[in-house]
Amino acid sequence: MFQKILIANRGEIALRVLRAAKELGIQTVAVHSTADADAMHVRLADESVCIGPPPARDSYLNIHQIVAACEITGADAIHPGYGFLSENAKFADILAAHNITFIGPSGDHIRIMGDKIEAKRTAKRLGIPVVPGSEGAITDEVEAKRVAAEIGYPVLIKASAGGGGRGMKVARTEADLSEALSTARAEAGAAFGDDAVYLEKYLEKPRHIEVQVMGDGRGKAIHLGERDCSLQRRHQKVWEEANSPALNAEQRNRIGMICANAIADLGYSGAGTIEFLYENGEFYFIEMNTRLQVEHPVTEAITGLDLVHEQIRVASGGGLSLTQDEVRFSGHAIECRINAEDARTFVPSPGLITHFHTPGGLGIRVDSGVYSGYRIPPYYDSLIGKLIVHGRNRVECMMRLRRALDEFVVDGINTTLPLFRDLVGNPDIANGDYDIHWLEKHLAAEH
Ligand code: ADP
Repeated sequence: MFQKILIANRGEIALRVLRAAKELGIQTVAVHSTADADAMHVRLADESVCIGPPPARDSYLNIHQIVAACEITGADAIHPGYGFLSENAKFADILAAHNITFIGPSGDHIRIMGDKIEAKRTAKRLGIPVVPGSEGAITDEVEAKRVAAEIGYPVLIKASAGGGGRGMKVARTEADLSEALSTARAEAGAAFGDDAVYLEKYLEKPRHIEVQVMGDGRGKAIHLGERDCSLQRRHQKVWEEANSPALNAEQRNRIGMICANAIADLGYSGAGTIEFLYENGEFYFIEMNTRLQVEHPVTEAITGLDLVHEQIRVASGGGLSLTQDEVRFSGHAIECRINAEDARTFVPSPGLITHFHTPGGLGIRVDSGVYSGYRIPPYYDSLIGKLIVHGRNRVECMMRLRRALDEFVVDGINTTLPLFRDLVGNPDIANGDYDIHWLEKHLAAEH
């Protein structure tokens, strides 16, 4: 087992990883920018190292500084959290060359899944259902027209290097195709320095359902069920739940086993998420994330498993702590992402939190790195906390969530709490009846 883990992240996820390490009796090193000297993860870590000025490229993305911090403190492993360097294959390779364990998959697996064309090809080879579309990159219009005619309109042009929903363009008819192709390529080139695009069927009313997997890197893997993340704004998840209100146990087991077997065949190590669009009873792979996700606590709530413990165990060579037969699903969980943003305009609202009070009681978990008197710096993402609620079933979970949202107090800044108080009372949400466009339509109707 590791002696000391360096946490290459900030905010709630740095604290989340720190808690898991402490429970396992492992020393922790926090790294931080000058803007984060007062952050909770820095206060609670055994050691801390300042790695640079506020801009992320000079601190949380600065590989040299992070490796140096590791060498100075003698840390033997790095947990990257999510975002920042978590899906950077070069970072994983550099750590391997320095004999520092990267708590995550191999650089090669990160590389495959980071290129969406390659990821889709790999998924297909491993028996995962994918969205019908082009076999690889599309370069000319004639070929695009041929593929589109074959699969039928509408179609979507997507960037191979894509992320955050950028470089994506819908073509509803053949007349739109040429423009969609050139705009998507230009956008992808500008955003990612890589203008490779591919084409796939545009699904009109899908849900976003993702499967949590864990591999031991030696050919064993398990799935931990799914999360429904259909409530999105600008392709960003807002509310996530497990189980999905749209699936039954048989469907869950079927797609879960397809994913677990694929991950086992790949020899994948650590936590991963296989994302699908789900429409008319069919699953369509869109991408795989090779890291811990923001929404992992809903899976922890229904399985009773600590995913960061599991990641650390696997990375240290200890294998998975349980087999698929030992995985038990219990009850229902919902996570709300509380952002420092106006709940209507979504304009970021950094600044001083004058009062911070979190809800408590049975089935309530709050993961947050902020506190009363904390000043949110303007340089990073606006997530200030996650409220995760568990109940024996979805009805109990929603009752508890409504109560917890009433108790939550954040003064001094704007937050998205009012949005969740609105959602929890909405009949469609109560019925679990929503797709990936529901939230944007709901927000547009309110204005
Ligand atoms: P990114 O990496 O940019 O987030 P994804 O492939 O994960 O790209 O897709 C992001 C979102 O875009 C999905 O959650 C979904 O809302 C939408 N999307 C992606 N592919 C399709 C598709 N084929 N049909 C309809 N919507 C899609």
